Amino acid sequence: MQRTFAIIKPDAVRKQAAGQILARIEGAGFAVRALRMIHMSKPEAEGFYHVHRDKPFFGGLTDFMSSGPCIVMCLEAPDAIRQWRDLMGATDPAKAAPGTLRKDFGASIDNNATHGSDAPETAAFELGYFFRGMELR
Ligand code: ATP
Ligand code: MG
Repeated sequence: MQRTFAIIKPDAVRKQAAGQILARIEGAGFAVRALRMIHMSKPEAEGFYHVHRDKPFFGGLTDFMSSGPCIVMCLEAPDAIRQWRDLMGATDPAKAAPGTLRKDFGASIDNNATHGSDAPETAAFELGYFFRGMELR
């Protein structure tokens, strides 16, 4: 078993797609190990996406991530990091395969509905950024 960190981003929460996305997560066989709705401040979003701080889209990305509530989760499954990224689809919804969450719920590369960790080290950092030990047993 492996754990990954996932977000239902503010655009998906705003369009009331969170329930449908959660159903797809459970339907794909992930166990939801932790879940909380939060509204990130701009500095919290900057800390979360610090690896992108030198990118041209950093300001827009962190404005978006702090624009409204999102749902943060710990998902568990065999090969969860890769499985979750496969279910999300490509970063740009226009390039995402049919049947993926970003294809079905994303509107553009900056409003792309979901986030997923890209490696075990980032999953560990991201889970620790949002969840305290006693929330993650
Ligand atoms: P995420 O980290 O959100 O799961 P990802 O790993 O598929 O997405 P990253 O390269 O880590 O993609 O980029 C983080 C986020 O920054 C993307 O989800 C997207 O919203 C935004 N982003 C990435 N590239 C661009 C770009 N060229 N223009 C605008 N926004 C971008
Ligand atoms: Mg990423």
